Amino acid sequence: MQPKLIVHGGAWVWPDERDSVLEAGLEAAIHAGWAILQAGGHALDAVEASVRVMEDLPQFNAGTGSLLNAAGIVEMDALIADGASLDFGAVAGVQRVRHPISLARRVLADTPHCFFAGPGADGLAMMLGEETVPNLALVSEAELRNFRERRSSEGGDTVGAVALDAVGNLVAGTSTGGTPHKMPGRVGDSPIFGSGGYADNALGAASATGKGEEILRVLLCRTAVEFIARGLDAQAAADAARDTVVRRLGADVNVGLILIDRRGGFGAIQTTPKMATAWVDADGRVRTCMAGPRFDEV
Ligand code: ASP
Repeated sequence: MQPKLIVHGGAWVWPDERDSVLEAGLEAAIHAGWAILQAGGHALDAVEASVRVMEDLPQFNAGTGSLLNAAGIVEMDALIADGASLDFGAVAGVQRVRHPISLARRVLADTPHCFFAGPGADGLAMMLGEETVPNLALVSEAELRNFRERRSSEGGDTVGAVALDAVGNLVAGTSTGGTPHKMPGRVGDSPIFGSGGYADNALGAASATGKGEEILRVLLCRTAVEFIARGLDAQAAADAARDTVVRRLGADVNVGLILIDRRGGFGAIQTTPKMATAWVDADGRVRTCMAGPRFDEV
């Protein structure tokens, strides 16, 4: 089976001048994950590798570069979903973890639990030997300046990856610093199984971005995958999920989603003006789109 990989760097709106720096980050993320898939590696490793690259880049709102909350603290959420076992690992409100996606992976692989939050999750990172850093080390200069000058940060730039490996494993991962000026303790969709990410080898896998308070209410990723169960291909399932959220919550929602179905088809939607996306096409070329791609057209 031909492996597949798609990544996103958030759905929202940002000035066009920002496109190239996001694009460069997405390409680096794709290369990291694709090298693993090309060598016959597992989709879990590919998704973790792609998301880690974006967590290290300050242009993305995940890991280093996360947005500050209203109290001036970084609180990060992440999820990795394993379609083979329908199992997942997730963390919420972590303040000291350099790579929340890797901690989520360790929750999945090395604990009897699925989800850790707050100080317990930071403590687990230390216990498991995951890299921890002072909270301030996760803050980009631009974000610090925005906070000090009380300028509003732009939303978006959350990251996610979805992969299908050569033996048919589907995996989704999502990592975020959350929404601008969120209240301390607020958790969005990103670490919630079925909302911010979902994977089932029998159907498909998805990663979401946008306003968590909207994504959570429609379990966006599970909803999209449910449409695959009803016989739709990946793009049609993504479209149906977007129609559902718009019908139920209104036309002014801010959500985005990337999806791979079990046959390797891609799907993507966004209701926002932009969604930073990159993928590897059928000829093995890396493609990017800042306006959100449609896979019945590319
Ligand atoms: N979905 C994320 C959250 O609500 C934010 C984003 O995707 O930009 O925390």
